[in-house]
Amino acid sequence: MTIDLNGKTALITGASRGIGEAAARIMAGYGANVVLAARSQGDTNRIASEIGERALAVTCDVARYGDIENAVNQAVKSFGRLDILVNNAGVIDPIARIAESDPEAWDQAVDINVKGVYHGLRAAIPVMKRQGGGVIVNISSGAASNALEGWSHYCATKAAVLMLTRCAHLECVADKIRVVGLSPGTVATDMQRSIKSSGVNPVSRLDWSDHIPPEWAGEAIAWLSTDAARPYDGGDMSLRTEEARRAVGLIS
Ligand code: NAP
Repeated sequence: MTIDLNGKTALITGASRGIGEAAARIMAGYGANVVLAARSQGDTNRIASEIGERALAVTCDVARYGDIENAVNQAVKSFGRLDILVNNAGVIDPIARIAESDPEAWDQAVDINVKGVYHGLRAAIPVMKRQGGGVIVNISSGAASNALEGWSHYCATKAAVLMLTRCAHLECVADKIRVVGLSPGTVATDMQRSIKSSGVNPVSRLDWSDHIPPEWAGEAIAWLSTDAARPYDGGDMSLRTEEARRAVGLIS
């Protein structure tokens, strides 16, 4: 199976580390122009310069609509179009039971995890419509459909992301814009380091070797950007399943 993203432009939020960084490097390897959007400008600049001239770093806080609108505009200005949006930026901190949680921090998780995805959809869909199509990959989680203690902000926001995937696909399919979600399973990134140090709920007690590498999630995102992934449109593909891992080419 070969993935060909030549001539495509992908905007990836949360590309300063972890899954977003891996997706940007892998999609660029498949020929795409990549726009790396995150708050840590030093990291996105470094990664973009390592990727080369087909990469652009844009400072972006997805909680602010103007920032993501600017990232979409920069993608179009630099590369002429926007074919793929990866709504990947997300936070799990601070992990806390509802009774002890900080209302402002809970609010901030909603701003990033839910409103950030809505902002990406709102900014990208009109551009993709004018171009005659596109693909949007929203990064979901098993937490979208499983309750976990200490994660009320995360479970509730990821459930909302799954519903945004469904709604956006329903609204966009007639305009040849595919919207699909990825539930990657547990991935060896900073987010899992934070989960481990919390000591809260069974996910924190997983062995590090239970997590998949971020490159697996990056490969899945690249594959979901292709027409081969159409059967998963309008919902979440779980990378925990053998079927999905085989489709992506991670196992034979
Ligand atoms: P990570 O290593 O902590 O990286 C998170 C990324 O999101 C960083 O690049 C961060 O960049 C960015 N980000 C956070 N807040 C942002 C904001 N307001 N605006 C723009 N970017 C922001 O986490 P990860 O594991 O790669 O997670 C990526 C996605 O996968 C998240 O949506 C997460 O929920 C999901 N996921 C992860 C796992 C897992 O096991 N790791 C499992 C299921 C789903 P800056 O801080 O530089 O802005």
